[in-house]
Amino acid sequence: MKCLFLIAIIQLLLQCTGKPLSGDDSYQKISEDVKREIAGYSDIAKAIINLAVYGNAKNRSYERLALFADTVGPRLSGSKNLDVAIEYMFSALQEEGLENVHLEPVKVPHWERGEEFALMLAPRSHSISILGLGSSVPTPPEGITAEVLVVSSFDELYKRAEEAKGKIVVYNQPYTSYGETVQYRAQGAVEAAKAGAVASLIRSITSFSINSPHTGWQYYQSNVPKIPTACISIEDAEMMARISSQGTKIIVKLKMGAKTYPDAYSFNTVAEIVGSKYPDQVVLVSGHLDSWDVGQGAMDDGGGAFISWEALSLIKDLGLCPKRTLRLVLWTGEEQGGVGAEQYYQLHKGNISNFDIVMESDEGTFMPTGLGFTGSDKARGIMKEIMQLLQPINVTNIYESGGGTDIDYWVKDGVPGASLRDDLSKYFWFHHSQGDTMTVQDPSQMNLCAAVWTVVSYVIADMEEMLPR
Ligand SMILES: [Zn+2]
Repeated sequence: MKCLFLIAIIQLLLQCTGKPLSGDDSYQKISEDVKREIAGYSDIAKAIINLAVYGNAKNRSYERLALFADTVGPRLSGSKNLDVAIEYMFSALQEEGLENVHLEPVKVPHWERGEEFALMLAPRSHSISILGLGSSVPTPPEGITAEVLVVSSFDELYKRAEEAKGKIVVYNQPYTSYGETVQYRAQGAVEAAKAGAVASLIRSITSFSINSPHTGWQYYQSNVPKIPTACISIEDAEMMARISSQGTKIIVKLKMGAKTYPDAYSFNTVAEIVGSKYPDQVVLVSGHLDSWDVGQGAMDDGGGAFISWEALSLIKDLGLCPKRTLRLVLWTGEEQGGVGAEQYYQLHKGNISNFDIVMESDEGTFMPTGLGFTGSDKARGIMKEIMQLLQPINVTNIYESGGGTDIDYWVKDGVPGASLRDDLSKYFWFHHSQGDTMTVQDPSQMNLCAAVWTVVSYVIADMEEMLPR
């Protein structure tokens, strides 16, 4: 006892002289306190898990999403469907009795694909499945009929640039990862146009296909001619590569009726559980409500939006009220490059010191494995402790990099960010295609995702201190 007292006096003296404590004792002490504080949430975490996975709320996020996705359908930026979806969610959140339910206006791109088709005319007649890429210009009304140049990479295109003039460039690039291969969708038209091509067709960004094209946004450059561009299936890209490698000429007719309208008004949809002690401080959970115009947008990002809604519902059902405000944001205009999130950031960044953590689920709600996290080492240590509360469902991993399109604006400014991590093995099979329907969603996996999302957001919102930056 005496000895401990002596050590305490020495430590106090060292602190007064400003010298660091050996072995980083100060951090250890904070850490032990925080560990104890977090362990104190174990019963609440169990109650959340029980309600979401086994109790009355079991399958609720799936059933809510099914009703929404089946009746509203896909929700392209600028479309009537997206307006209907926002009204639907606004009413649902109000009816549930959540607080501060409101819409924040956003101007979003308004592009429509219109009628579109592609026909291979030579060496045989064959209908090519296509999906025009977001922001593509149309073809002339009579379409474009031209010979095809197949390349397997940008490098091959640059080497054969002379051959590309007046042709339709077909990219048959291999799929390595989404992050790497997506550059062909994003910049394929610009690179083809620089070489004098009249259109470009891009092998879909996926590792697996049942003759399914996958759409997505693409970007023109101001000083490069805008040429029509669409994605095609793996099957057709590989077939045209085989035919051309035999030296056989391929002729394709492409017709696209895409239209770009003036920017449209849309909204980010917001609801809250207002904090009991620090109402100005915010824990933000989110997913995006807009989608592509094919399939149902059930996976991208209906799942993420609806487990985020579920987090507030579960906390409300349990009669819990965290110290900080838990804010749900359903973003608009994500698929056009995070347009809704960017405007939200501009509007609210003056309040950045009050943002405790920003969380986004936009990479599937399949079997969860943990969270991606970006933040300081101290914050990461706290997150690791919080994830231990999810031992009962064995989802305890913390991975590098918690960013996402809709939260990166905050994360790059130093706000801790977290994104849901789950089994992505099939995600890109369906992504941005007609296959993104409720059939790929699994209620029991959504229950687990909702439990992870709720435990983490609640505990961070209720801890005495905000996460250290
Ligand atoms: Zn998405």
